[in-house]
Amino acid sequence: MQRVDVLRRIVADAGADAAVVTDLADVRWLCGFSGSNGLLVVTTDGATLVTDGRYRVQAAQEVGDAEVAIASGPLFKHVSELNLLAKAEHILFQHDALTVKAHRDLTAAAPSAEFIGRSRLLAEHRARKSPFEIDAIRRAQKITDTVFGELLSIIREGMTEAELSAEIVYRHLRLGAERMAFEPIVASGPNGALPHARPSARRLQRGDLVVLDFGCVIDGYASDMTRTISIGEPADQEATRVYDVVVEALLRSTAEARAGVEAVQLDAVARDVIGEAGYGEYFQHGLGHGVGLETHEWPRVSHNAESVIPEHSVVTLEPGVYLPGRFGVRVEDLVVVGQKGADVLTTSTKELIRV
Ligand code: ZN
Ligand code: ZN
Repeated sequence: MQRVDVLRRIVADAGADAAVVTDLADVRWLCGFSGSNGLLVVTTDGATLVTDGRYRVQAAQEVGDAEVAIASGPLFKHVSELNLLAKAEHILFQHDALTVKAHRDLTAAAPSAEFIGRSRLLAEHRARKSPFEIDAIRRAQKITDTVFGELLSIIREGMTEAELSAEIVYRHLRLGAERMAFEPIVASGPNGALPHARPSARRLQRGDLVVLDFGCVIDGYASDMTRTISIGEPADQEATRVYDVVVEALLRSTAEARAGVEAVQLDAVARDVIGEAGYGEYFQHGLGHGVGLETHEWPRVSHNAESVIPEHSVVTLEPGVYLPGRFGVRVEDLVVVGQKGADVLTTSTKELIRV
């Protein structure tokens, strides 16, 4: 089934006759358009991507399964001018992907229609990856693993976190990445205890653990991995024990990952390993998340997520322990969830590397 028809079925199931898609990752998934300004109007008998003149050529090249309309002003004004929603009486829209102003323009484009707000409109469909999507993620992760391997020969005491971050970006782009999936995390020593620390001018010191979390984008799809390495022998006596606990949590949860498992249950496998070792209070984020056109997408793998992990989804598993003022350890793999188990895309070693 064409992806636009997947949306038409959602629209019909909701008793509606049109949908306005404003989440750009959803727009891309539906019709291929990768620009930064656009929306897709889908009705029972038509689909139109509305974008602006900067994307005239790109949209013509990228978009399948939809007409392309070029707006000279605000996109919703053009939706009005083209009467795209003129016949619609019940319209699905994404209330979590719209500014207040855009919402005003949208309702003005169909003044007598009823609007039905939805979040996660296509999340479960996007989670089930096609072979092409899995291949793109695999290729992105291959570059990321290669960069990690290269880093091991250049990381040295005295280098700043920012310098190392620059190396990570440079090497990904040189190996063919379209862009980074997110700003790399390079968190050394006590900075490692901040799960989302930004690379700073801090210099790597002998005995530091360094948390490295990065990923890139290929054909629109993201990779994401974390490794924690040590500059020489870890200075903190507890570091290797914590490291082993985190890797054990990762391995045990990976072994339990399969289609149909509840996200809560998978999260609990890792959380129990860490809790039993006495570090439960220092693992304060979810175990992982879906990866695709966005680095963080549905399903969340968390203790408070109500999702069931679908077949062919690609998720990260990333347990971590963060001891404030001392150090942090996180190890993150990317896996494809299958009927019988998980296929781990990340190939870098999970042994504690001392450089
Ligand atoms: Zn990550
Ligand atoms: Zn992640």
